[in-house]
Amino acid sequence: MLEPGIIPNKEPRLRVGIVLPEDDQQEIQIDFPVDGSYIMEVDGAFADVHPGANLVIRLGKKGLLVQDSPFVDAEKIVFKQIKGEHGIGIHPVISGRSFHWKKYIMVHLPDKVEILRYQDTLMVVNELNLETYLMCVATAEMGSDCPTSLIEAQTIVARSWMLANVEQKHVSLGFDVCNDDCCQRYQGLNNLTDHSQEGAKNTFGKVLLYEGNMVDARYSKACGGIMERFENIWFEEPVPYMQTLKDMPDIQNPPDLTDEENAREWILGHPEAFCSEAYIPSKDLKKYLGSVDEAGSYFRWTVTVTNKDLTENINDKMNLNIQAVKDIYPIQRGGSGRMILMGLKVVDENNKEKELVVKSDYEARRILHKKFLFSSAIVVEKKGEKKGLPVEFVLHGAGWGHGAGLCQIGALGMALAGYSTEEILKHYYPGVVLDTIY
Ligand SMILES: [Zn+2]
Ligand SMILES: [Zn+2]
Repeated sequence: MLEPGIIPNKEPRLRVGIVLPEDDQQEIQIDFPVDGSYIMEVDGAFADVHPGANLVIRLGKKGLLVQDSPFVDAEKIVFKQIKGEHGIGIHPVISGRSFHWKKYIMVHLPDKVEILRYQDTLMVVNELNLETYLMCVATAEMGSDCPTSLIEAQTIVARSWMLANVEQKHVSLGFDVCNDDCCQRYQGLNNLTDHSQEGAKNTFGKVLLYEGNMVDARYSKACGGIMERFENIWFEEPVPYMQTLKDMPDIQNPPDLTDEENAREWILGHPEAFCSEAYIPSKDLKKYLGSVDEAGSYFRWTVTVTNKDLTENINDKMNLNIQAVKDIYPIQRGGSGRMILMGLKVVDENNKEKELVVKSDYEARRILHKKFLFSSAIVVEKKGEKKGLPVEFVLHGAGWGHGAGLCQIGALGMALAGYSTEEILKHYYPGVVLDTIY
């Protein structure tokens, strides 16, 4: 496990949660490659695994059971890779947990895999070297056709973020990070290419530092043209290297999007940012984005929600019983145009008009769409009218994700325009230095 606040002087080991208690899984299938060699350890007893074997592990009343084997009621089953390069296949595994792109996939995991019992569900943890993990993350987040400087920048960001390890969301479950967008998307060796391995090798041990401390390098898919401040998203102490700056060659003097007039003009306009069509045409985006992302335009987009669907979603997510929505409006916007405070005028269960206040970008996105809205930097247009209520809300939006730190599509735009790895990193995290720590 990683230790928060400590900069390691040799490559650390990392534990990644692959199947979590919240997935409520009772069974997992494991496929071994024909050309590898593995050892199985069940509560301290060892057994060989035949190359090409398929195992099903199930959770019984008293512990884990390995199908067609004498092992029963185990607390922990460990598979160790002795040799081989393909990893072991594990399925089903959730990708896009609680997001609208949720899928079940098979992942191929290198090194050591643990199957554990956690209360009445099964848990899978992959333990491996940090650099192997990073090779896999750089490509799982973006397609392997990406230019080298983007893959390198993404790898350095992932390494720094991992070592800053500020969040420690899963430490109580015994792993450092999970396999999904909650932490960083990791699908084992699935998307590993020569190109991505090279990216990780070229940057081995390289991190971003600010005044001698590890940079908490957050990132999202597309800022929408202006980067968001750290504290507007996470409501913690501000960090000097995540500010409101333009995602353009000249980062200074962005328009003030906390002013509503400016925000409308910006979100409905088409500024020439690194994450815009000026640098990457939408039709080319698909070949660079990771394989589980839906293709489309994320710099500027339009999503329509009916009043009925929105009402249902609000009742569901906020545990309310409102009858309809009259209006959606920003109370306070951050520098990127994202809503830090959002107001909703609703008709409550007693037919009274009432205001709901939603207190973060994340909550706004969760409440505005059943499958999570791309971003809260939106301009709302009301359409149609029935009994004095709008029939639909047309949401005109900018960007995808929280918009703070590195903008992945913007970094791609920069890389395609010929910017170097270092230029990309210093653009998104001004004031940082690159250093090699091991
Ligand atoms: Zn996580
Ligand atoms: Zn951007």
